[in-house]
Amino acid sequence: MTYASVIVDVPAKQIDRTFDYGVPEQWEDIVQPGVRVIVPFGPRNVQGFVVGLKDNTELEKVKPIQSVLDLQPVLTSELLQLAQWLKDHTLCYTISALQAMLPAALKAKYEKWLITKNTETLPTELHSIFGENGRVLYDNVKDQPYFPIIQKLVKQDKIELYYQVKDKAKKKTIKMIDVQFSQEQLISYMKQLTKGAKAQTRVLTYIMENEIAKISKQELLEMTQTSSSVIKTLTNEGIITEIEEEIYRDPYKDRNFHKSHPLPLSGQQLNAITPILRCIEKGRHESFVMFGVTGSGKTEVYMQAVDAVLQKGQEAIILVPEISLTPQMVNRFKSRFGDEVAVLHSGLGIGEKYDEWRKIHRKEVRVVVGARSAIFAPFENVGIIIIDEEHESSYKQEETPRYHAKDVAIQRGKYHNCPVVLGSATPTLETFARAKKGLYTLLTMDKRMNEQAMPAVEIVDMREELREGNRSMFSRVLVEKLQDRIDRGEQSVLFLNKRGYSSFMMCRDCGFVIECPHCDITLTYHRFSNSMKCHYCGFEEPVVSTCPSCQSEHFRFFGTGTQKVEEELVKLMPEAKIIRMDIDTTSKKGSHEKLLEKFGQKKANVLLGTQMIAKGLDFPDVTLVGVLTADTMLNVPDFRSAEKTFQLLTQVSGRAGRHVLPGEVIIQTYTPEHYSVQLASTHDYHSFYNKEMMVRKLHQYPPFYYTVLLTVSHEELPKVVQVTEKISFFLKQQLSNEAIILGPVASPIARIKDRYRYQCIIKYKREPKLNDLLKTILDKYQQQMVREKLLISVDLNPYMMM
Ligand code: ADP
Ligand code: ZN
Ligand code: ZN
Repeated sequence: MTYASVIVDVPAKQIDRTFDYGVPEQWEDIVQPGVRVIVPFGPRNVQGFVVGLKDNTELEKVKPIQSVLDLQPVLTSELLQLAQWLKDHTLCYTISALQAMLPAALKAKYEKWLITKNTETLPTELHSIFGENGRVLYDNVKDQPYFPIIQKLVKQDKIELYYQVKDKAKKKTIKMIDVQFSQEQLISYMKQLTKGAKAQTRVLTYIMENEIAKISKQELLEMTQTSSSVIKTLTNEGIITEIEEEIYRDPYKDRNFHKSHPLPLSGQQLNAITPILRCIEKGRHESFVMFGVTGSGKTEVYMQAVDAVLQKGQEAIILVPEISLTPQMVNRFKSRFGDEVAVLHSGLGIGEKYDEWRKIHRKEVRVVVGARSAIFAPFENVGIIIIDEEHESSYKQEETPRYHAKDVAIQRGKYHNCPVVLGSATPTLETFARAKKGLYTLLTMDKRMNEQAMPAVEIVDMREELREGNRSMFSRVLVEKLQDRIDRGEQSVLFLNKRGYSSFMMCRDCGFVIECPHCDITLTYHRFSNSMKCHYCGFEEPVVSTCPSCQSEHFRFFGTGTQKVEEELVKLMPEAKIIRMDIDTTSKKGSHEKLLEKFGQKKANVLLGTQMIAKGLDFPDVTLVGVLTADTMLNVPDFRSAEKTFQLLTQVSGRAGRHVLPGEVIIQTYTPEHYSVQLASTHDYHSFYNKEMMVRKLHQYPPFYYTVLLTVSHEELPKVVQVTEKISFFLKQQLSNEAIILGPVASPIARIKDRYRYQCIIKYKREPKLNDLLKTILDKYQQQMVREKLLISVDLNPYMMM
């Protein structure tokens, strides 16, 4: 008898280990590590992952596996190993680590189908079972005597096991009309129609004249001005059939990508790519920091390195911040590598994501371009991992497992003996410090491809504007320059740093602000629904016109939302054509891209938007970039706020003058003297790095110290305080004198969803015992966490200090 070690889907401390199950004989061939199974666990059946096989077990009574979910492993042995590493480095449960590596479809409700491309190639006894459609429900055949034959054919890739997500709302189909008659048949049918059958004649004439074989029902109805009843008649006659067709499964299917070819590299690009190519050739791991200013040609270097990897027969993983936000990046990779590319990002539906993942799993593609979770792409022969804009905080997952994609990348790079490239114009201090120490190899590209100087940046002191009587959110110089661009037929990008600056309702008389009754944050005003919403818990209430506190009627909304900016701009410059990009205008799928396309076709003078327009955009006629509020992020309680401000301002400035025309940048700010603003305006990364390193050293923050954020939450405040105090007391006792524990204090957002939040921050240089101590704490409170809904979260190397 063979036994399987299984990790079951029950995220709890006592269960965070393997359990043994017997492997029934009929499944001995398919139960392997990395396969999902259903196993009995206590009174119920749960899903689990096989992580190992063995010939004996210490258990006296072993239950058998109930059912097998996969016919081929969904996780490779490398990924199973990586799960252990994730568990140790983020203090999560193994099951959470395993699940983080798979697309949601493999967790969701689904129907399992066995599918073959061609029934003819199957043994004859299977012909009737797979039928004309070449598919059969897995559950209908799994207990049949011929099932082992199917298993074999799956191994030979002749049959595929496919999960069809059952979520009806997500499945996109369209009604199509399929024409069954030939032209001759149509002609003879029409001849015998009566004169009264006008609608039928119209439809058939349309079909014949346009030689239509298949058309969407809606289009046919519209083009011929007919009703469904006519379609029905024609269907009954057997002339046409109505079918449901799935659409948009491949989000990029209908797009034509112009094939692009490698460009001859510049001297700087050659210098950067040479050590990477050497590494690829030798099959050696090395981490590179590609420190290249915006427009220096980093992407071209990435693509040529990927090309070398493909030629070697290997695979490539490219992470970009959030691709739905930078379609231009996807286009560039699709144009170069065509069908070799799978794309994974959060804009895809569950089914679409699963399909893209399947292409990787089945080795139908060798390149994946994706957001954070694409780092777990189940490739088995990775030749390069590239992380573009490595400083982006979206690479850190803010829920368990709280991993950083960069750490995972390096871990996988070591396993596969391949290079890892971290690209950025503004590397994080941690990354750059490592490069300076020689842990990573630094590749510098400080010139733009077009030989253009970096754009000239002018800082405008908004306090001065106010003093001189300008109450608008546009400085006079910005208005002047915008006007100038419109006159010259050039384009401008206006950037609104929205973080912490959304519109809220405030009483002008007593200062009362409406807050969420469940969370300690102000409600955000939404014009569209004329309501106030909480961005944390979703609480919503209609807008009121009088102050709930003093009944004053001077109750108005404040803040500078993008809509407000747009309105003011229209007042200042009625002739300006503006495209606004924010959460409201881009919530519909594909709208983001459409707006950018419109801007690219010069159908507008000004592109106005939030964070989402800061990166990756590349339009030749943009010669002016305006930042409306540079310093909103400086006020966020986070030791990285200066760094984030510098990064953002540098990114935004990089949008101007990327091609022939020179660019100009205006930064409006209330703190013009701050070094992050000053040094961004002179494009001086090195000085910023030195200055900020001094600040970090002084205040004992990364990269000089490691940090851990421990957050406790519960519905009762005294409980939260008590637990957090106990924990920090325990840590103070156990850790060395060099460790610093800040707190316990209330978290910056002191309450979310009716739960109070307290935190302490641990700063340390070397504490070998720390992870074990944190585990001990989690163990100790395990019971309370289950019974009393106490929550303790531990974030190693946190990126959000809220
Ligand atoms: P980055 O990714 O560093 O911001 P890009 O890769 O977008 O820079 O390059 C900036 C511009 O220069 C792009 O329009 C790109 O097509 C062009 N470019 C890059 N490399 C070359 C090259 N070797 N020859 C000509 N043009 C290039
Ligand atoms: Zn709330
Ligand atoms: Zn009031």
